Amino acid sequence: MDCDRREFLKVGFKTLLATGVSIGAFELLKPEVLAALNKEKGLRWVFVVDTTKCVGCGMCVRACKLENEVPYETNVSRTWVERYVMTKDGKILVDSPKAARDGFIKNDPMGVTVKKEDIDKAFFVPKLCNQCEAPPCVQVCPVGATYQAPDGVVLVDRTWCIGCGYCIMACPYGVRFFHPLYRVAEKCNFCYHRINKGMKTACVDACAFGARQIGNIKDLEDPVARIIKTERTAVLKEEFGTKPHVFYIGLDSIVR
Ligand code: SF4
Ligand code: SF4
Repeated sequence: MDCDRREFLKVGFKTLLATGVSIGAFELLKPEVLAALNKEKGLRWVFVVDTTKCVGCGMCVRACKLENEVPYETNVSRTWVERYVMTKDGKILVDSPKAARDGFIKNDPMGVTVKKEDIDKAFFVPKLCNQCEAPPCVQVCPVGATYQAPDGVVLVDRTWCIGCGYCIMACPYGVRFFHPLYRVAEKCNFCYHRINKGMKTACVDACAFGARQIGNIKDLEDPVARIIKTERTAVLKEEFGTKPHVFYIGLDSIVR
C-alpha cells in the first residue's frame, strides 16, 4: 500500500467516526441500511406511465418476467398491459391476454372481432404496483411480511409471508398474486434490487417508446419529478384514498 492510499484510508476512517456511520454500514445493500441512507437523501420513488406512447408490444412484460423470476409460461405477471377498445356504438372492450407478454397480435379484444371502421378509440394502458402512500396491503398483513420502505416502495419479505392471501384481497388494483413456485405473495417492487444500484427497472429499460419512467419525486432536478409537478397527470382509483405513486399521462376516463 502506498503512502497516499494509507493517508486516504486514515482520513476516510476518521470521517466515518465523526459522522457516526458504523463500519457495518459498508456491508451495503442491507435493506435497513439502505432505507436509512435513502431517508437522509430525501428519496421517494415514483413512476410515470405515458399512455400516449405505449404501443402494446409487451416488451416490458417479457423483461419483467425474466428479471424477476416469474415463470414465463404462467398467466401471472408483476406488470401487464391492458388494451381498451371503445366501439362507435358505445361498447367498451378490455383485455390483456397473458398479461400482454406476446403483445396484441389479433384484432379481437375479449374474443370479439372489431372492424377498424367501428372503433371510436383504442389505446393501451400499462399497469403495475402503485407503491401507494397508504397501502391497504400493508395494513392487513398479520405478520408484517409486507411493509413500506422509507423510500416509498412496498416490499414483501418472502421468508415471513405465510401465504394467507389477505394482501391479495386488500389491493384494490389487483396487482398481487401467489408466486407459482414460492407460494407467497408476489408483486412489482420497482425492481428494488436494480434501482438501489442506480439502474432503471427492467420494464423501463425494455420500453423502446419511453412509455415508462422511474424517478425520485423529492429531487427537484429529476425529470420524472418535473413531469409530475408540471404536467397534467392522473392516478388510478384516486377515490380509494391509497395515494398511488404511479402517475399516468393521457389517462382516458374509461380506464378502470
Ligand atoms: S414496452 Fe413500452 S410500448 Fe411496449 S407495451 Fe410496454 S410500455 Fe407499452
Ligand atoms: S397497488 Fe396494491 S399492492 Fe401496490 S402498494 Fe397499492 S395496495 Fe399495495
